[in-house]
Amino acid sequence: MGGIEVKDLVFTYPGTSSETLRGVDLSVGEGEFLSLIGPSGCGKSTLLRLLAGLERPESGSLFCGGVPITGPGSDRGVVFQSPALFPWMTARDNVSFAIRKSDHSLSRAEARSRAEEALCRVGLADSMSMLPNQLSGGMQQRVAIARVLGMGCPTLLLDEPFSALDPKNRFALQELLLKLWEEDRKTVLFVTHDMDEAILLGDRVAFMEPGRIVFRHKIPFSRPRQRETLLISSECCALRRDMISLFYKWGETAEVNP
Ligand code: ADP
Ligand code: MG
Repeated sequence: MGGIEVKDLVFTYPGTSSETLRGVDLSVGEGEFLSLIGPSGCGKSTLLRLLAGLERPESGSLFCGGVPITGPGSDRGVVFQSPALFPWMTARDNVSFAIRKSDHSLSRAEARSRAEEALCRVGLADSMSMLPNQLSGGMQQRVAIARVLGMGCPTLLLDEPFSALDPKNRFALQELLLKLWEEDRKTVLFVTHDMDEAILLGDRVAFMEPGRIVFRHKIPFSRPRQRETLLISSECCALRRDMISLFYKWGETAEVNP
């Protein structure tokens, strides 16, 4: 039960005069992976913060799993560009701390065992006792992913989680996320400004202009997907070209809502 529904969402930051979100409509089906792409400053992170329950809307509605969003909740796991780990805690302790915070009924030993399982899934079986400053940026982001996996959140809100990584780490993390999603089929809203990343990962891509979503496009490629073969295929090049030209020409006539 993790689908997302956003209807006519309006939001203005306190102290600013113009609306940051001006009637956003968005739906992510249960078990769907939706990539959200748009230029810097168009409101992607603001939308994600509202879905995370970190901001309150001025008007409109937000639902997750059919339940109105009124604040942060353990049904939604958030990963930001910065992994935000406690520097004095090991990878294992960072993950088990978050797990215990999201479910107070768990014992320390249960949380630790769940943390270890999640860290194994993200490829950190040999690095659990390391402190964040002993881990590379890619490894730190793996810990942040293990944290939401361990918490068992059915819905993931990911805000440019790989943007700060070098290409090799970025590709490895994209492949990891593809594999995890294929195993778990969680509901995912994935914010990026990278068209290839949006296509590789998503079932659909939603395009945002300042304050609103202007169109959505289905990604027709079957899974499992292989980065190297998919992104250079002629079908993918044609899709990329079509989506870019639609995005440039968007308007009422260019609206596509599969
Ligand atoms: P994106 O993630 O698409 O780059 P953001 O959601 O971060 O965009 O920002 C959308 C707009 O809201 C930008 O114009 C930004 O300057 C503004 N903004 C973001 N955070 C705040 C804030 N805390 N207070 C006021 N304005 C903000
Ligand atoms: Mg942002």
